[in-house]
Amino acid sequence: MNLRNVAIIAHVDHGKTTLVDKLLAQSGAVRDNQRVAERALDSNELERERGITILAKATSVVWNDTRINIVDTPGHADFGGEVERILNMVDGAIILVDASEGPMPQTKFVLGKALKVGLRPIVAINKIDRPDERHQEVLNEIFDLFVSLDATEEQLDFPVVYGSGRAGWMAEEPSGMDESRGLQPLFDLILSHVPEPRTGSVDEPFRMIGTILEANPFLGRIITGRIQSGKLRSNQSVKVLSRDGDLIENGRISKILAFRGLERQPIDYAEAGDIVAIAGLAKGTVADTFCDPQVTEPLHAQPIDPPTVTMTF
Ligand code: GDP
Repeated sequence: MNLRNVAIIAHVDHGKTTLVDKLLAQSGAVRDNQRVAERALDSNELERERGITILAKATSVVWNDTRINIVDTPGHADFGGEVERILNMVDGAIILVDASEGPMPQTKFVLGKALKVGLRPIVAINKIDRPDERHQEVLNEIFDLFVSLDATEEQLDFPVVYGSGRAGWMAEEPSGMDESRGLQPLFDLILSHVPEPRTGSVDEPFRMIGTILEANPFLGRIITGRIQSGKLRSNQSVKVLSRDGDLIENGRISKILAFRGLERQPIDYAEAGDIVAIAGLAKGTVADTFCDPQVTEPLHAQPIDPPTVTMTF
């Protein structure tokens, strides 16, 4: 199946949760009881280990034979390092901005980092149904914000959709004439504007940077990340290398979990590009490299190369 990994960035209350719920509902990937199941998996106990908290949640939807992993980004400046790691795991970003409030500090903070790692965001101007909406001014403010954050020409050429997450529609024009298409314009934009995962080959050895650490009451320590190269099967032997290349541990994967709707479901196989959570290791943590025993060099999160543009005349 084709794959897209995208971050969603919004200031608190600009409608991120509501929009993701509607994306799920319209992709037909969710049942009502899934939200409950997801909550049941939350745990707050071991999260505090080394000051690391659960910082990101991911949702996965399927649209036109493409799995879209949507990763939430914490907006608080205290989580700068984590935000960068999360943004390094995706290939695109949706910047969701309230059509009345305009861009706010959290929008700016995370957008700045997204631009720095080379992502080309999609702008979604939300809550267009508000009586005090001012989408044109807000669009100008967003453009100015991109400029002030040193966006490249390509990043400045961002696509825009307008709409109401709560009413379940986004369209290329703010008039609302196109509401009947629901969120299709946004889904289509994700497929066309966000590149496929920019990862290594499935034929190389398995490598993944730990991005999110959490604790699960049944599975213990869980590390989420995007597989950078190779394949992963449950029961596979892996080793963990620190950023400096020191061996942290040798171990075995006891479980691979993939995001399916709001739930995480066990899977037997995953490959380069996929975002998965793995269990079974005792020490490996964020920024460590989880890899095949034959790998000797750790991975380092790199800014994404600016996409190559082919000009056609
Ligand atoms: P989050 O903090 O970004 O996750 O925001 P929520 O999704 O929780 O939404 C915050 C508030 O905005 C809630 O009261 C929502 O009902 C409201 N909201 C979300 N989407 C819309 C919308 O499209 N229009 C309007 N008017 N309100 C919305």
